[in-house]
Amino acid sequence: MDNIYITRKLPEEIVEPLRAKFDVHMWHSESIAMTYEEIKINAKGAHALWTMLSDNIDRALIESLSNLKVISNFAVGYNNIDVEAAKEHGIIVTNTPGVLTETTADLTFALLLATARRITEVEQEIRSGNWTSWSPMQYTGMDIFGATLGIVGMGRIGEAVARRAKGFDMNVLYHNRSRKLEAEETYGFTYAELDDLLKQSDFVILLTPLTPETKGLISERELNLMKNTATIINVARGGIVDEQALFNALTSKKIWAAGLDVFEQEPVPLDHPLLTLPNVTVLPHIGSASIRTRQAMMELNAKDIEAVLENREPQNRIV
Ligand code: NAP
Repeated sequence: MDNIYITRKLPEEIVEPLRAKFDVHMWHSESIAMTYEEIKINAKGAHALWTMLSDNIDRALIESLSNLKVISNFAVGYNNIDVEAAKEHGIIVTNTPGVLTETTADLTFALLLATARRITEVEQEIRSGNWTSWSPMQYTGMDIFGATLGIVGMGRIGEAVARRAKGFDMNVLYHNRSRKLEAEETYGFTYAELDDLLKQSDFVILLTPLTPETKGLISERELNLMKNTATIINVARGGIVDEQALFNALTSKKIWAAGLDVFEQEPVPLDHPLLTLPNVTVLPHIGSASIRTRQAMMELNAKDIEAVLENREPQNRIV
């Protein structure tokens, strides 16, 4: 019987159907992540490894799991897995695209609205007893309606965010390596080179995958191109924006604010300099975190693991 190892405790109703066909082992905790060494030891004989985005599945780990046929990642992003190493060893890698697109686009827009109108910052003002009078320019933010939105990474989620932006009468620019002519025609989105997008946008949203090419894509030079009234939103992956450069740009008022769902190190350390700034709105990597979507993602992982172990083609194969 093939053996499945799951690196986090998942709801039994999702895992249960797999138990009828396979030998399923699962980490005991929902909230405590496995360490690298724990995965290496616990998943030793596994034919399938069901991973979380916080697991570092590098070449050495892949090569230590000699029975492995499939790695199924509970995320659309797969920067935590060495897919080249997996491919070399004939191991299939799958992810969960599509089912999280609209949920993540909703959250992206929520973060955009919250950052522009200073929602979390001013809520804290009330709770701290600092709201002592109403005054004309107190707690004022930036308008979203009619503003120019620049989306870097116009894929599934980027397009879903851009469609929402049309409802706010925003002018949408996007940057990708390839043009999206159908979306340009249907919705009136405009393609721009990255530097032009950064110069023109009031809000810049990052939605590329984290790859060697996008690591540090937004650094000091790029932040300097932005308007000093502009806001940057990162819902993609930490590391696409250089956090030190972002801190410098915010403290020197080169840009106005930032909204971050993702960080270079997660959970973000409490003493992180960005957490000291009132114009930074932070979230704990919750882009896809609706009940229905998280269940749909798990169902994709389970189906694809089952498919590979039964020698069928999985639905969401990366390599
Ligand atoms: P997708 O459909 O693959 O879209 C990614 C887009 O990025 C593509 O349009 C791609 O177009 C573009 N891109 C890739 N490399 C680029 C580069 N070097 N420069 C400019 N554009 C580039 O993926 P998706 O489903 O929309 O997801 C996007 C990312 O969001 C994921 O990879 C994941 O990391 C992140 N995400 C985060 C959360 C969260 O909880 N915060 C949730 C879901 C997803 P070209 O190839 O034409 O350039």
